[in-house]
Amino acid sequence: MHKENQPLIFELSKEGRIGYSLPALDVPEVALSDLMPNGFVRQEDAELPEVSELDIMRHYTALSNRNHGVDTGFYPLGSCTMKYNPKINEAVARFSGFANVHPLQDESTVQGAMEVMYDLQEHLSEITGMDEVTLQPAAGAHGEWTALMMIRAFHEANGETERTEVLVPDSAHGTNPASAAVAGFDTVTVKSNENGLVDIEDLKAKVGPKTAALMLTNPNTLGLFEEEILEMAKIVHGVGGKLYYDGANLNAVMAKARPGDMGFDAVHLNLHKTFTGPHGGGGPGSGPVGVTKELAPYLPKPVLVKKEDQYTFEYDRPKSIGRVKPFYGNFGIYLRAYTYIRSMGPDGLKAVTEYAVLNANYMMRKLEPYFDLPYPQHCKHEFVLSGRRQKKLGVRTLDMAKRLLDFGFHPPTIYFPLNVEEGMMIEPTETESKETLDSFIDAMIQIAKEVEESPEIVQEAPHTTVISRLDETKAARKPVLRYQKEEETVGV
Ligand SMILES: *Cc1c(COP(=O)(O)O)cnc(C)c1O
Repeated sequence: MHKENQPLIFELSKEGRIGYSLPALDVPEVALSDLMPNGFVRQEDAELPEVSELDIMRHYTALSNRNHGVDTGFYPLGSCTMKYNPKINEAVARFSGFANVHPLQDESTVQGAMEVMYDLQEHLSEITGMDEVTLQPAAGAHGEWTALMMIRAFHEANGETERTEVLVPDSAHGTNPASAAVAGFDTVTVKSNENGLVDIEDLKAKVGPKTAALMLTNPNTLGLFEEEILEMAKIVHGVGGKLYYDGANLNAVMAKARPGDMGFDAVHLNLHKTFTGPHGGGGPGSGPVGVTKELAPYLPKPVLVKKEDQYTFEYDRPKSIGRVKPFYGNFGIYLRAYTYIRSMGPDGLKAVTEYAVLNANYMMRKLEPYFDLPYPQHCKHEFVLSGRRQKKLGVRTLDMAKRLLDFGFHPPTIYFPLNVEEGMMIEPTETESKETLDSFIDAMIQIAKEVEESPEIVQEAPHTTVISRLDETKAARKPVLRYQKEEETVGV
């Protein structure tokens, strides 16, 4: 329900009011129908609101104030790495020499842009310990799929077409089994043990001649580092399978440990998480993939290479899986990641990891007395609490997530991973001050007390937001696509 004091833009509309001012035309007027082929010119005017520039400015500013973003408040959405994106990244992405480059320009005129891409590839291959990197994939899941297509092409080139299975631990990110399915594989789930790590015996039982790859999120979605990773690599390689590393949240290990050194054959990174590309709202993202020499011939083409002092796109790659993204990929995100890596330096990147891990452990220990902590060992960049104690008192994790909105915090990821009852996956990130961490901790403790003393406050939350509790599925299933003046319209 919208509040009376903020009308919809359609309610502000007054017939004939305009939001721009242009001098009188001093050239002959041209009818749209002269410019467009028949049938493409609309017969009736679109139903658009008619408002002044000032009204529309205030309207969008007011809407933006209702939004929760990293720049407005703490955003501990587990696995999403909602950390601060330094504004110097934005300044660099707007340099006219980058922002005005056209993707069809001749290579000789865009050597600077290609150098940035090449250097970024080199940095990422150093950070991951992989031999070659492609920047093409547009997101993490797209990177997963790209790498699996390469692994598939590799097995096919070796005549091993019976390798149809991809093993995915139950603690993997949800995109992993989805990417495997889209790449044409059958997924086989590997169980976690009581410590939240991959069950080695179950892994042994499930690998075999059909195994194409194991996809591992490390640290897994419980925020736990797979301690037996070298053993796991041996098991999977032992049967001829490949190891795929989901490195979306590399802020947990960056500059400390490298997937390449752990025995992985392919890894994707999320530049829009660890490397400070802004994200949320659907992108644009960037999910570069690093691979070993053995998989490199299968990289998407064209491959960006350096020949003497010239950068060039190499198209003659007969084993390539082909192009996975037009033009340069999401170039603006490369610039932001490149600026971040260069401005942090190796010591800075190491500090990022240390603080990401320290902040998560600090918060976990402070909250441990108030919530169940199913996996109590040290965590990496995130940890998962269970709300099962509160559920017994009639308050669900969903209620507590809603209550956090009253404190001005974005809720954590909830009900994930699936093996934690009433889970709350909290990722504070390294960019938050101790004071911010403490204020979130205080809010969580207060909520835990409210659950015991006056649960209805939590059950009926949020109380202070512009709209109260929404129907969780209706917004997705029945979106309001168009404003209608009467009933069955806006909101819930
Ligand atoms: C975010 C995330 C992904 C998916 O990345 P997208 O860019 O959203 O496709 C994959 N794996 C993990 C562990 C993630 O956190």
